[in-house]
Amino acid sequence: MHQTEKTINLVNEVSATNYKPLPVVLSEGEGIWVKDVDGNTYMDMLSAYSSLNQGHRHPKIIKALKDQADKITITSRAFHNDQMGDFLKKLCDMSGFSKSLPMNTGAEAVETCIKAVRKWALKTKGIEDGEIIVARDNFHGRTITAISFSSEPQYREGFGPFTPGFVIVPYGDAAAMEAAITPKTIGVMLEPAQGEAGVIIPPKGYLKEVRALCDKHKMMMILDEIQTGFGRTGKLFCFEHEGIRPDVLAVGKALGGGVYPVSAMLSNDEVMSVFRPGDHGSTFGGNPLGAAVGKAALEVLEDENLVEKSATLGQFFMDELAKMNSPYVKEIRGMGLFVGVEIKEECGLARPFCEKLMELGLLCKETHHQTIRFTPPLVITKEELIDALEKIKKVLLP
Ligand SMILES: *Cc1c(COP(=O)(O)O)cnc(C)c1O
Repeated sequence: MHQTEKTINLVNEVSATNYKPLPVVLSEGEGIWVKDVDGNTYMDMLSAYSSLNQGHRHPKIIKALKDQADKITITSRAFHNDQMGDFLKKLCDMSGFSKSLPMNTGAEAVETCIKAVRKWALKTKGIEDGEIIVARDNFHGRTITAISFSSEPQYREGFGPFTPGFVIVPYGDAAAMEAAITPKTIGVMLEPAQGEAGVIIPPKGYLKEVRALCDKHKMMMILDEIQTGFGRTGKLFCFEHEGIRPDVLAVGKALGGGVYPVSAMLSNDEVMSVFRPGDHGSTFGGNPLGAAVGKAALEVLEDENLVEKSATLGQFFMDELAKMNSPYVKEIRGMGLFVGVEIKEECGLARPFCEKLMELGLLCKETHHQTIRFTPPLVITKEELIDALEKIKKVLLP
């Protein structure tokens, strides 16, 4: 029996089946490349849902991890550590926010944003039990609160009762959002482009209109850039495409440089000041190992101009995909190296296309049944992208 089969059997025996992975067992990774236990090499075009913008095991990030591991790793926030401040300073400087609150996973960052905005609304507007407007087909994580306002039945089925205080409106429709505003509304929370929904790019001007609504009604604009942030869409943050800034931002995934879970809520002094000692916390949030890794992850983005690379290579990639003129493809969507290829329903699901790509040595994953998401590490070169396009062509042309 091949090692792949053995490992998958073991996992099926001892683990929950809350995922349906492609049948490949990875054991090594470097840059854009991964190897499986049977010695096959693949190009990683999923990047752990954009956690690997800097590539697998970036030497500078691994060095930061190892150096820090030799000093001190976890302190808890009961004490200060000498890494967190430098990391958060870098994060604030790059993002333009004055304050940040470190957590670990994306879902925790989202929860932190919701808590902050609820408390801000109570303190500044006197609104108790305020409501936050969210978008249909959103994805903000898997906690009870995050699934409470999901419009995907499968994410919720059997998991109630749910957290109240959310109103769902269609994505990309500012008029629908305005119509949903009531005296109880305290904010809106959106992905500036939806990832899990299938790489959905809202109409141009949407975020600007949402920003204007938030200003008019004195509501908080929360953006979740856990997936779209850190260069993925060809800007450091996706909101820059529309020349606006949110009041509160959730970041994660690539903030951990592909090696460690690091997330954060970013905002201004006014919002962040609602948290007093004891209000909120996380045992691992802001730990020195994660802080050293997060700082290195940000430095790599800058040093290697990964944001600009994403913009130029992403445009090239989408142009080449369009030129293929595949009869299977309904639509190609994207910004930077955040690209979705939607397969026509009459041509079947996206999954078999991903399985064929895997056989050709290219790993990607379908999202929402019909869409193949192509989100390679931003360290990919043009030559490597051309190599990937050759393989994609074999699958997308009959
Ligand atoms: C992945 C993701 C999350 C959740 O992050 P976890 O680290 O899995 O908790 C939240 N929001 C968006 C937009 C994401 O893509």
